[in-house]
Amino acid sequence: MDPLQPVRGTRDIIGEDQRRHTHVIATARAAAATYGFDEWTTPIFEDTRVFARTLGDTSDVVTKEMYTFSDRGGDSVTLRPENTAGICRALVTNGLTQSLPQKVFYAGPMFRYERPQKGRYRQFHQIGAELIGPAEPLADAEIIALGWDILSALGIEGDIILELNTLGDAASRTAYRAALVDYFTDQRAALSADSQERLDKNPLRILDSKDSRDQMLVQQAPTIAPFLSPEAASFYDAVKLNLTRLGVPFRENPRIVRGLDYYSHTAFEFVTTRLGAQGTVMAGGRYDGLVAEMGGPPTPAVGWAAGIERLSMLLRQSPAPTAPIAVIPMGEAAEIAALTILQTLRRAGLRAEMAYRGNMKRRLERANKIGARAAIILGEDELNRGVAAVKNLATGRQADIAFADLPAHLAE
Ligand code: ATP
Ligand code: MG
Repeated sequence: MDPLQPVRGTRDIIGEDQRRHTHVIATARAAAATYGFDEWTTPIFEDTRVFARTLGDTSDVVTKEMYTFSDRGGDSVTLRPENTAGICRALVTNGLTQSLPQKVFYAGPMFRYERPQKGRYRQFHQIGAELIGPAEPLADAEIIALGWDILSALGIEGDIILELNTLGDAASRTAYRAALVDYFTDQRAALSADSQERLDKNPLRILDSKDSRDQMLVQQAPTIAPFLSPEAASFYDAVKLNLTRLGVPFRENPRIVRGLDYYSHTAFEFVTTRLGAQGTVMAGGRYDGLVAEMGGPPTPAVGWAAGIERLSMLLRQSPAPTAPIAVIPMGEAAEIAALTILQTLRRAGLRAEMAYRGNMKRRLERANKIGARAAIILGEDELNRGVAAVKNLATGRQADIAFADLPAHLAE
């Protein structure tokens, strides 16, 4: 039989890839904790309505990208394409809308039926943060600062620029929408088929089009600035002021609109030129309407999500695996004593391994192959003296160490 292949757009994460992946999550998790965020895990699949209702029925995600199927009971379920809707659903179902603010961090797989290419997969992984409750612009600035700190802790902030925009409040958007409809209606015939449909249903979304013809027209389109209500304009000013106070550099880009329907006010993307067409690594904004759409009370919120694969690709170097200590017993009595030594080292937090068989030479070869930093050689003579010969495999130096002193001697 031909070996089975992973499904198109999915991949195995092994070895160096997994170390990068784990490093991104661990770094983000630690940074999020310093800002007071707790981690939540929500189900990988949800009632289809959790997404269909809220992401917007003209969004690419809902119209083209969702993995939706009927389960054996006939219910329509969807593999989550993103996690913000699920977090808001969880907020409501767990009765947490009265315990605000909630500061939520998450990490896990997402699923979108897209054309696979570099940095774009059908199963991919995101880290994300949601700050639910505060309506103040300082919240927007703080959650963006968290994103920036994560990129800095990963050492990739030099390759990334924060692009910032506002989508205004409802009044601003209604006025802006009318201006966009005027502008694009004149250009209707030149728009892609998708954008002609967007023009009827959700003209703002044309600004997010990836079609090159649309993008030419978008360059000349009106921007939202003249249509902002005084409240929306001062909100945006406060976000920018607080970003500066928090030490986060940004560039304004009036073309940034998010691909999902639930955003208002702040919209932002962290972009890089190092990943070709897949240049957005982290993206988010304010979504004050979403919790209410999920059946909760009106609740302001702001958040972002970042693709772990794209962040991993940007890392300048891979985290090195921890070098193990190889335990090498010679003879039956030493084999038994070796088990005690192994467990003592492991319980002291050290990585210790023993080959299951082979003579001294074979086991030393194996120790080198797994990149061991030290070998503990244990023969009958050492056993009788209550010591082990510890060989530093980098320097070749060897010394007899009493059993009780092994963990301290080998601590890094
Ligand atoms: P894009 O414009 O690249 O399609 P998006 O606007 O659909 O991105 P979001 O829904 O904002 O993306 O998701 C946030 C982040 O998740 C993206 O910036 C990206 O890093 C990552 N991401 C989104 N879709 C994919 C995918 N199919 N494969 C890998 N990463 C993805
Ligand atoms: Mg997309």
